[in-house]
Amino acid sequence: MREQFRNHQTQTTCWDHPKMTELYQSLADLNNVRFSAYRTAMKLRRLQKALCLDLLSMQTACEVFEQHTLKQNEQLLDISQLVACLTSLYQRLEQSHSHLVNVQLSVDMCLNWLLNVYDTGRTGKIRTLSFKTGIISLCKAHLEDKYRFLFRQVASATGFCDQRRLGLLLHDSIQIPRQLGEVASFGGSNIEPSVRSCFQFANNKPELEAAMFLDWMRLEPQSMVWLPVLHRVAAAETAKHQAKCNICKECPIIGFRYRSLKHFNYDICQSCFFSGRVAKGHKMQYPMVEYCTPTTSGEDVRDFAKVLKNKFRTKRYFAKHPRMGYLPVQTILEGDNMETWGSHTNTHTHTHIHTNTDKRHK
Ligand SMILES: [Zn+2]
Repeated sequence: MREQFRNHQTQTTCWDHPKMTELYQSLADLNNVRFSAYRTAMKLRRLQKALCLDLLSMQTACEVFEQHTLKQNEQLLDISQLVACLTSLYQRLEQSHSHLVNVQLSVDMCLNWLLNVYDTGRTGKIRTLSFKTGIISLCKAHLEDKYRFLFRQVASATGFCDQRRLGLLLHDSIQIPRQLGEVASFGGSNIEPSVRSCFQFANNKPELEAAMFLDWMRLEPQSMVWLPVLHRVAAAETAKHQAKCNICKECPIIGFRYRSLKHFNYDICQSCFFSGRVAKGHKMQYPMVEYCTPTTSGEDVRDFAKVLKNKFRTKRYFAKHPRMGYLPVQTILEGDNMETWGSHTNTHTHTHIHTNTDKRHK
């Protein structure tokens, strides 16, 4: 199987490993998640686990990059180089997680995924930057450490990045949701509006420094929002909230918890929220706050105050004052829009999701 798979990789036809085909087919059940950012992130989470990249620390990844002297990010890596890097990577993972990692299968699947993402024409080569972007985006690390790592790959020795190099990074990043067929939700494959947005945010200086890039990424620009949402999806997996879902009555709520900022004691569980179910009297326009981990007493007090404020506001008020809600519900015309965050006027439903800023970057 292995040789057959490898031989196919060098040909121009696309051919997936049977296990990969199986995985892609299994992702179809997530298509009922009506919010694209969550849908994409849930798919990526499943992919990340199937490729065992959820076990890979950034330190191990960096050591492997070093071991294979992956320094020139614009340099192309051929299949044999990719296989060599991936083999070292998974051999290290096997040392620490022997019962979870099948080296040969993982190498084949990860190679298959990387080629699907970065070598659609099947030339048998991908850029070093692409390889690193793919691996680091799905590894196990703090979100901001990933941002810093990715920025360093395109920054000059003095730590600055110009528009062209930022474009390379965003291009390689956006290929990840693109491969899942989700690119339209993140502003399309044209990354120019994103680059412009970032430099505008940095007051149109000719070069960008890391701190500015991080501040911009913290706003969760539309082209990159799938990555922080992936991290929240991972954090929510084991979360147990002392709250009852107002729709399906699940208690405690496991996974994401959505608390209304309009009604007291109004919570919705992840599956009800994702499927777009609403209870009587609660409109989609009403603001909600997302929690991927149990709330602290400070958050409870803060939300209580917000509900007090919102209690007598009408549906009309919320429709007129859309606040931060990053989730595009409808797909957007490819490459047609400016980078947006905050209220998504290009969506048909204003769903006001406030994310928990204290926790989301863990
Ligand atoms: Zn529910």
